[in-house]
Amino acid sequence: MIAKPQPPDLPSLAARLRAGDRAALARAITLVESRRADHQAQARELVQILLPSTGDAVRVGITGSPGVGKSTTIDALGMALIAGGHQVAVLAVDPSSTRTGGSILGDKTRMARLSAEHDAYIRPSPSAGTLGGVAAKTREAMLMCEAAGFDVVLVETVGIGQSETAVYDMTDFFLALMLPGAGDELQGIKKGLVELADMIAVNKADGDNLARAKAAAAEYRAALHILAPRSVHWSPPVMTYSALTGDGIIELWQKILAHRDAMTASGEFAARRREQQVKWMWAILEDQLKAGLRSDASIRAQVRQIEVAVAEGRTTPSMAAADLMRLLQASWHP
Ligand code: GDP
Repeated sequence: MIAKPQPPDLPSLAARLRAGDRAALARAITLVESRRADHQAQARELVQILLPSTGDAVRVGITGSPGVGKSTTIDALGMALIAGGHQVAVLAVDPSSTRTGGSILGDKTRMARLSAEHDAYIRPSPSAGTLGGVAAKTREAMLMCEAAGFDVVLVETVGIGQSETAVYDMTDFFLALMLPGAGDELQGIKKGLVELADMIAVNKADGDNLARAKAAAAEYRAALHILAPRSVHWSPPVMTYSALTGDGIIELWQKILAHRDAMTASGEFAARRREQQVKWMWAILEDQLKAGLRSDASIRAQVRQIEVAVAEGRTTPSMAAADLMRLLQASWHP
C-alpha cells in the first residue's frame, strides 16, 4: 500500500521559515500558490500563524513597460541594498501568466547578480486564474518573505490592465519607471498611473540618452505639477537615474525612505496599510465567489448558459446575476 502523503506540520514549517530557512520559505509559498483546497486551507493557517512576524518590510511596487529596465533596476537596487545589510525579496504580479502559464516577470535569469545572492529571494509571478487570484497569492508570498526575515520586498509588474492597482494596493511605495523618449513622454503617462505613482524615475540617463532623460523628467514634472498630489505631505518627485551605471540608484532608495518617514509621521502610512487589509479581504472574497462558480463542471455549464442568455438578450443582466447567486448558494448546500 502506498502511504498517503502526510500534511505538513505547520508549526514546525513556520518555525523553520521564521529562522530564515529558504527551503521552508519555498515550501510555504508553494502551498500558498497551490489551487488544491487542502493546500489552500493549510496556507491560510500558515499565514495566520506567521502574521505576527510580518509587516516590517519596506514594500515597494515597481511598474514600467517591457524594456524600461525593471529587471536591471531591481538587480542594481537589490545589490546595493544587500551591500547595506538588507535582505531583499523580489515578487511579481503578471496577469498574463494566467494565460501563458509562465511569467517573464520575476524570472531569475533577468536578475543575474541578485539571483546568486543568499540574501535575495526571487519568485516569478504565480499563475492563479484571475488578477485577483494572482494578487492575493503574491500578497501572501510577501508575508511569507517578511516572516522569513526579508526587510525589503520589491513587487514588479507591467502596466497591463488593473495589475498596477493590484500592486499599488499591496505596497507602501509605488515607483513608475519611464524611458527617455522623444516628445512622446506624456503619452506614456497614463492618467491612472500618475495618480498611483509615489515617484516617477526616468531610467537610462546615461551616455547619449542623458540629455533626453533630463528633458523627459522636466516634462513629467510639469505634468505632475498640474495634478493635485494625493497627500499634502508628499509630492511625487521625478528623478533620472541609470540602472546600467548605478548612477542615482541610491538616491531612489533615499526617496523611498524619505517617503516612509513623511507618511509615518503624518499617520498616512498606517492608514494605507489598514485600507489595504480591508481591500484585500474583499478581493479574496470576490475571487472565492468567482471560484465557486467554476467549482464543478455542472456549475460551469450552467454559468455558460446564463452568459449566453444574457448575450442574446433572453434575460437581463440583473436576472442573470440573481440566478448566479442562487447557483452559488446551491453549491454551498448541495
Ligand atoms: P524590463 O523588461 O523592464 O525588465 O527591462 P530590462 O531590465 O530587461 O532592460 C531592457 C534593456 O534595457 C536591456 O537591454 C538593458 O540592458 C537595457 N537597460 C536597462 N537599464 C539601462 C540603463 O540604465 N541604461 C541603458 N543604456 N540601458 C539600460
